[in-house]
Amino acid sequence: MKLVNCICSLLMGLGLILSLTACSPELPVKDSKTSLQWFQQGAQSVADRKIQLDSAYANTQKAKNIIFVLGDGMGVSTLTAARIFSGQQHGMLGEEYALSFEQFPYSALVKTYNVDLQTPDSAGTMTALMTGVKTNEGIISLPHTVDRGSCLAAQNQKRLPTLIDLAKAKGKSTAMVTTARVTHATPATTYAHSSDRNWESDDALSEPAKNNGCPDIASQWVDGPRSSLDILLGGGRRHFLPKQQGGKRLDQRNLIADWKRKGHYVATLTELNELAGQHVSEHSDSDKGVNEVPWLGLFASSHMAYSHERPAEQPGLQQMTAAALKRLQTNKNGYALVIESGRIDHAHHEGIAFKALSETQELHETVAWLLTQVDLNETLIVVTADHSHTLTLGGYTTRGNPILGNVVANDRYGRPKDKTSVDNHGKPYTSLSYRDGPGAISMRADGLDEDGHHEDVHAIDYQQIALVPMDYETHGGEDVALYAIGPQSQLLSGTLEQHWVFHALKFALK
Ligand SMILES: [Zn+2]
Repeated sequence: MKLVNCICSLLMGLGLILSLTACSPELPVKDSKTSLQWFQQGAQSVADRKIQLDSAYANTQKAKNIIFVLGDGMGVSTLTAARIFSGQQHGMLGEEYALSFEQFPYSALVKTYNVDLQTPDSAGTMTALMTGVKTNEGIISLPHTVDRGSCLAAQNQKRLPTLIDLAKAKGKSTAMVTTARVTHATPATTYAHSSDRNWESDDALSEPAKNNGCPDIASQWVDGPRSSLDILLGGGRRHFLPKQQGGKRLDQRNLIADWKRKGHYVATLTELNELAGQHVSEHSDSDKGVNEVPWLGLFASSHMAYSHERPAEQPGLQQMTAAALKRLQTNKNGYALVIESGRIDHAHHEGIAFKALSETQELHETVAWLLTQVDLNETLIVVTADHSHTLTLGGYTTRGNPILGNVVANDRYGRPKDKTSVDNHGKPYTSLSYRDGPGAISMRADGLDEDGHHEDVHAIDYQQIALVPMDYETHGGEDVALYAIGPQSQLLSGTLEQHWVFHALKFALK
């Protein structure tokens, strides 16, 4: 360390008022806040926090409504990167930006392991969140004592009641909206019980499962006694249609046709908005909403499109949420709404950070919009993730550097260097990278494209550098963050086991 820096550190350590410019005369003004403003901002945050906590603790009421928002695979590094990504789109340096839910008064760390897996999968984690019981990888709302893939009649007695069942028993309306297939692991936990998450339609059932009459997940939604779920919106038509009609089913059944005898069905944004509008005009001054027939919306054959390339007739996360909320808010007993941004996870599996960050941004904007629509005196909102991913963020990147860009570091005076940093092989590198996946160093063409140019790190399909070569990037095993606001949100702080979250929600629900 240079002597001048040592002296500066020493003086600052002693608490002496010292402007940074005295240490490095040509420090560029990137962030124009003065030291005094940083100090006052911190002090103000404590004052605000005290007011927030006083009012939150004073609120001993229970929650009439619960909104549970899940970013599938939205780990802490994803949140940090998405915060910078969004901030930079607002013309800011980025790091100082705050996602909508980061301003909630309570937050917690959540331990995500499955009963049988250190780094968990979505079926086991969402079962923990929705039923209050930790279970094994691949299991949908059944306990870990059920062997994966086994299909015994006894399983019927082992079905775990869900948050949705609880809400329904209290006379509330309920909904699940997702950008993934509705039969995918996360949404499936809210209405189905299956010893294998892959049994989305009958083509995937094992022989013993077929022989024992084990129902696939799509058929559970259509054939079973009416689900506690009033609204199910997302992708996944292919699991409801026979192979001859472009679907996956081998049993020749068209489950969408069967469904239309039980409830409403919509397949486009226009149809969804018409259905929601019609419902409101029929039920605006009554509480009949709870008795109305259920809705199924399937807007894509498989998962819905990523938000940056979504066709006009596919609703986005906010549009599905808005349509569901219109119906839910007509029930004077309240509602439980589960929202999943399902494709943050898929983008990470592809090793493509841009897509994961733009999906996280959509979740952030959906929550920002929700905050304008609900009364927080009676509505508990929880935002969390089921598990993390291996995205990491580092490289001594200078303040405000484009989050997807190559690293530019600072020189010894704290000024950004005039060229990108290079590694030991003389190659530039991005601040975002993955532990494993398809972007692995050994699987790519040496940082150069076919024409010998450097890769375009800002391209929407750019795969960040990874270490361990794999076809798909894996989940991360570290804790995820949880954010809470509204009645009883104070129950959600500290370091929590994932299944505890359900019990806090159960206690909070009026
Ligand atoms: Zn995943």
